[in-house]
Amino acid sequence: PPAIRKISEKHDKVFVTGCLEPDTSKPRANAAFVVLARNKELDGVIQSMKSIERHFNRWYNYPYVFLNDGDFNQTFMDTVKNYTSATVEFGKVGPDMWGYPDWIDPKVAKEGVNKQGDNAIMYGGMESYHFMCRFYSGFFYKHPLLAKYEWYWRLEPEIKYFCDITYDPFLQMIEHNKTYGFTIAVKELRETVPNIFRYAAAYKRLNNIKSQGLWEMFVEPQPEKKEKEKLPEEVLRSEPARLPDVDPEGMEGEKYNMCHFWSNFEIARLDFFRSKEYEDFFQMMDRSGGFWMERWGDAPIHSLAAGALLAPRDIHYFRDFGYRHTTIQHCPANAPARQLPRQPWLEKTTLDERKRQEEDQYWEEYDAPKENGVGCRCR
Ligand code: GDP
Ligand code: MN
Repeated sequence: PPAIRKISEKHDKVFVTGCLEPDTSKPRANAAFVVLARNKELDGVIQSMKSIERHFNRWYNYPYVFLNDGDFNQTFMDTVKNYTSATVEFGKVGPDMWGYPDWIDPKVAKEGVNKQGDNAIMYGGMESYHFMCRFYSGFFYKHPLLAKYEWYWRLEPEIKYFCDITYDPFLQMIEHNKTYGFTIAVKELRETVPNIFRYAAAYKRLNNIKSQGLWEMFVEPQPEKKEKEKLPEEVLRSEPARLPDVDPEGMEGEKYNMCHFWSNFEIARLDFFRSKEYEDFFQMMDRSGGFWMERWGDAPIHSLAAGALLAPRDIHYFRDFGYRHTTIQHCPANAPARQLPRQPWLEKTTLDERKRQEEDQYWEEYDAPKENGVGCRCR
């Protein structure tokens, strides 16, 4: 979206251009990969690990924390450890962080979920998906296994990194005083979050929070009033001045433009989520019942919290990370050859064949082999 382009070009630059010989001499950040998964997702988890290990972690060796509302079986744990030389920990997500909270009538919540299923809302009828979204919205950072960490990098099954990441993004985030990093921003399915923005806006209003410039990224631009109210020339000439009718839309205030950071990739400071401000935000959102009566995702939750509490300078766009999750991917456009003015700043691509070809072209250009043999290989 153009709004975020404006924000980022001014406030956020790519950390590193081109490829480096990965510098592993510096001490690592206090950080870990966080992977929520089920035993049945083992293959997808391996795919993701292979990708991130090959393109980044074989040099940097950041530990992994695997979380599950069930128990990981021995096969899962043994197999996963075979794909990294880094430390791996496995944790269980207890009922305090998963499932229906005690303040809601589970029958009412379940009915809400079922109704979304009937209405064919994506994942809307799937109880466990609601649990997952709420867990990632308000709990993962409170998990005991994450207590010792200051930073996390979220990893999901069945994702793919295309390019070598030859610098440490955590250390760069620290150096540049960043709080939250993303690589894809997309529009949310409206029917999953009909009321999310009303509550987020109310949180902001009730707590007297002034936008630091990021909130606007999530607000639908208002139609030009003047255009709407303009009367035809002949009316203007033939009638005395007439006040335009009150525009009811103008009375309703801001509207959500559905934009959100796609949270299946995320690198962020945990203390943002652990702050009193974020906790108040989560509590207000949670108590509204929106995780049950609607299907609020953790992505719009994280995004709107960032919008309310952070400034553009706190956000980093990892535009140099080639990343794919299911049908949407981001391919780096930061190679000098790609710095064309008409290039959309944020690239969201549905992988139909034509697009695929276009992207192959991007990768070729970005894929110049480097003398040191590392190369930014986008595969
Ligand atoms: P999508 O990316 O929105 O299609 O949702 P996913 O099915 O990929 O779920 C998002 C993340 O939560 C992934 O890391 C999943 O492995 C994980 N996840 C989703 N549902 C569950 C669940 O019921 N239990 C556990 N342990 N993990 C889950
Ligand atoms: Mn996923």
